[in-house]
Formats: sequence, structure tokens, C-alpha cells
Amino acid sequence: MEINIGTLDTIQFHFAQCNNAKCKSLFFVNPEEIPGELGFLCPSCSAKTTTCHTVQCSSCGTVLNFIRALTTEEKVVFTIDKCSHCYGTVEDEWEIEPLYQADSYI
Ligand SMILES: [Zn+2]
Ligand SMILES: [Zn+2]
Repeated sequence: MEINIGTLDTIQFHFAQCNNAKCKSLFFVNPEEIPGELGFLCPSCSAKTTTCHTVQCSSCGTVLNFIRALTTEEKVVFTIDKCSHCYGTVEDEWEIEPLYQADSYI
């Protein structure tokens, strides 16, 4: 019986596009990997989710922005109703940032 030695040809990697609207880079994903609530994020963006707050569109699920967080802060996902791709405006996307910063000084 022949033994097939696994090569990159036998492992089917898939391309995915980063779910961060400002990144959109293509990267390899393991087809068995199931996207989380934030969808597929490239390695550099998914690293940011551990150090930054994430802003996500609740309509299409696209990740829109990362907000710098203190290392001691719990990292949270902010959602907005509509991003600019969902007939919202770019202003909607940025509105959340000053609001959040005002809160953080309390
Ligand atoms: Zn990315
Ligand atoms: Zn959207």
C-alpha cells in the first residue's frame, strides 16, 4: 500500500478576503476554520482584535475600524447600524469614536 506524503497540494487552503473594510487583503485560511462573529480577518487584523476595540457594521458584518484600547481595558466590539456600504454615511462610521472617547474620561 502506498503512503501519500502530505504536501501543500493535498491540503486545500482557501483564499479569503479580510473582513476589515480598510484592509481587504487576501490571505490563506484553513477551509476547516469557521469564521467568527467578525468574519475572516487577516493575521494582522485579527491580532488587532486582541489589542483594540473593534467597530463592526451590524447590517453587513464588515469590520470598519479599530479603536485603540488600553491594555487593561476589556476589548469590546462596537456595532453601528449601517456602514457606508449599507447606505449609511462615512460620518456614521466615525461618529462612534468621539462618543466613545468622551465616555472614557468619566
Ligand atoms: Zn486585514
Ligand atoms: Zn454595512
